[in-house]
Amino acid sequence: MTVSEQAGEFDIESAEEDERIAGLGKYVTLADGVTETFDVSEPFTGDTAGTLPACQEADMREAFERAREAQEEWAARPVEEREEIILDAHDMVLDRDQEFLDVIQVETGKSRKHAHEEVMDVAMNARYYGHRAEGLLSRERRKSAVPGAQKTWEYHQPVGVVGMITPWNYPLSLTISDAIPALLAGNAVVIKPAPDTPYSALKSKELLEDAGLPSDLYQIVPGYGPELGDPLIDECDFLSFTGSSETGSMLAAKAGEKLTKSSMELGGKNPAIVCEDADIEKAAEGLVRGCFTNAGQLCISIERLYVHESIREEFVEEFVRQTEAMELGTDYDYSYDLGCLISEDHLEKVEEHVEDARAKGANVMTGGTARPDVGPSFYEPTILTDVPEDSLPCCDETFGPVVGIYEFSDEEEAIELANDSEYGLNGSVWTEDYDRGVELASQIECGTVNVNEGYAAAFAATDAPMGGMKNSGIGRRHASEGLLKYTESQNVTLQQAGTMSAPPGVPYGIYAKGVNYALRLIEKVPGLR
Ligand code: ADP
Repeated sequence: MTVSEQAGEFDIESAEEDERIAGLGKYVTLADGVTETFDVSEPFTGDTAGTLPACQEADMREAFERAREAQEEWAARPVEEREEIILDAHDMVLDRDQEFLDVIQVETGKSRKHAHEEVMDVAMNARYYGHRAEGLLSRERRKSAVPGAQKTWEYHQPVGVVGMITPWNYPLSLTISDAIPALLAGNAVVIKPAPDTPYSALKSKELLEDAGLPSDLYQIVPGYGPELGDPLIDECDFLSFTGSSETGSMLAAKAGEKLTKSSMELGGKNPAIVCEDADIEKAAEGLVRGCFTNAGQLCISIERLYVHESIREEFVEEFVRQTEAMELGTDYDYSYDLGCLISEDHLEKVEEHVEDARAKGANVMTGGTARPDVGPSFYEPTILTDVPEDSLPCCDETFGPVVGIYEFSDEEEAIELANDSEYGLNGSVWTEDYDRGVELASQIECGTVNVNEGYAAAFAATDAPMGGMKNSGIGRRHASEGLLKYTESQNVTLQQAGTMSAPPGVPYGIYAKGVNYALRLIEKVPGLR
């Protein structure tokens, strides 16, 4: 599918583009044909972008049956062969970036530059795991209890079929980027994408199939969570979820009943600390991205901004100036900074947060208004000060382009304020003293903390784990953990000499004394312990 060769040519109104979107429907897994359908909107206009089958329980069960069969053959293949497919997908997603950007923009309404982050993320994860899976998965020799008499290895066996429930805010990257390590580890993957954004997931299936992945190994079952969640959890060997803390907690409990392992990346109310020695212009630029990328619909975006009292006024002025320079628009090219919110329903939630703060005495420094003149779910990037503690945006996740600015007088207070949250996903520190910044960052109770960047640097560092502390999640994506979580560690030990008890004819008391002596010796000798 080539939606458009050049950025900016995409037009959902044209029959050709319409057909290209509709053509992705062939990648839906169905058991016996379509029983119900659902519409996917184009948030830029509110018009229908496409209609897809709303999968039912039977479709989900069918997907797992097919996936299980395909997984056996896949797990038997050399890891190198799996890596080749993923590295081909790496090249293809970059070659076809315009097609992916069009599909992401159609169903999310995000700006093209924010859509491009998703393409980059897919390439980076494909490259990272495509070159490391073999090393991570190879069996490792471990120390055995009785050196010489035994040999021990650690194996990493695939869990089987991974079930993924994915969100609408990053519908391409939070689908395929998390699936790549699962596939490389020898698993099959069945995905239920968010009903707002199934086409990006279907497009990712097209990519992997074109790169040579067997079709049944990676399946997309679009539809509604409450109908499809139970059969997915019932069938899967590992549950991967990205979404709200509320839904995540409910799904983790259901998985727990069956002792199915899970990883969850959930909500955040992410803090940034701007120290007195920060470069104000640079901090404002980074925090405009940190707060308003994807219209703030980013789990790791900054919603609480703590600024040292000595620079507060100057910082707010610069931050407002740069925020007001952002251009909102609906084009399928790189000309606009900011797109819209996912839906009018979500716009209402964001408006409710801002209106609650305003009614309780907050100052709206800029924004605070919907922009129906641009599109039905556009909302201006909004900066609040004097946000009352009992107002919604103070502690609850807004998940929109809204940030509250607060002030602090010393670092201890800043850390205390930053950590005063049930969430712990992402944090940010701004200072020209790099050592101090890194030291402060390590005190913030968040799974990722960026120094002199809002979110992107730590997220893009795929060689280090990413995920949530506190109510922001369980488990991590990226790094070795992001792949090994989709495996079962297995200890295989060979007893090649002697026995694990007293040898024949040796009284147990003598044997016990000998064992105690040996244990003391092993503790003393560095090569043995
Ligand atoms: P949001 O409220 O931002 O849509 P959710 O956490 O509700 O965030 O949604 C993330 C994903 O979870 C979506 O794919 C959604 O369809 C799915 N989901 C929502 N409710 C359920 C549920 N009861 N069971 C299974 N999946 C669900």
